[in-house]
Amino acid sequence: MSFTTLGLSEPLLKAISIQQYTQPYPIQREAIPVILKGHDLLGIAKTGSGKTASFVLPILEWFQTKGAPKNRSIRVLVLVPTRELALQVVDVFQLFGQNLPRRVKAMAVYGGVSINPQMIGLQHVEILVATPGRLLDLLSHKALSISETEILVLDEADKMLNMGFADEMKDIFFLLPKKRQSILFSATLGDDVEAIHQGILKNPVKIDI
Ligand code: AMP
Repeated sequence: MSFTTLGLSEPLLKAISIQQYTQPYPIQREAIPVILKGHDLLGIAKTGSGKTASFVLPILEWFQTKGAPKNRSIRVLVLVPTRELALQVVDVFQLFGQNLPRRVKAMAVYGGVSINPQMIGLQHVEILVATPGRLLDLLSHKALSISETEILVLDEADKMLNMGFADEMKDIFFLLPKKRQSILFSATLGDDVEAIHQGILKNPVKIDI
């Protein structure tokens, strides 16, 4: 099986072949068509399964039909537990997005470093990859808006909860529009992840790899 049957357009397929991804991993085979159709998704998948490309590729495809943003609202918000993961996810957006007809600016924001350069860097950002605490700090400084965000991704949701981010996550969900697409990835499906996903996903397609 190749990437060509998953619903991705020629520019994305070219970007994939440049990265020498010859075959989609199972999570990619299952998740990419579901996300492209606009469904909510609950994906149980571990690090190393290829889960990052499984949401990055359909999100970049989605942008190809969208015009430039009119305001400072973040269109795609990816919440992650750590700075390392934030940087990795932005790298994957940049890797596949660099030669597409519609260029999209992605940025990582995380705590433990000065907030000012991040506030300045937010100009024209459409995809924000953020740790929960720093995102709330930026929102309280009115450095950005998530009131018109169209796609929410929770990456490594179980780890975010284990690290004690539950309250921050709830504060963030409250600020997002109700009408949106939501995607949740977790390595495990415990009670805490169940509780979160029931609150934020609508009729999700469940994929367990
Ligand atoms: P992830 O689970 O998203 O952190 O990805 C794990 C690793 O697999 C990364 O180094 C990716 O570059 C690589 N990878 C993901 N999908 C593919 C694929 N379809 N073909 C080859 N390598 C891949």
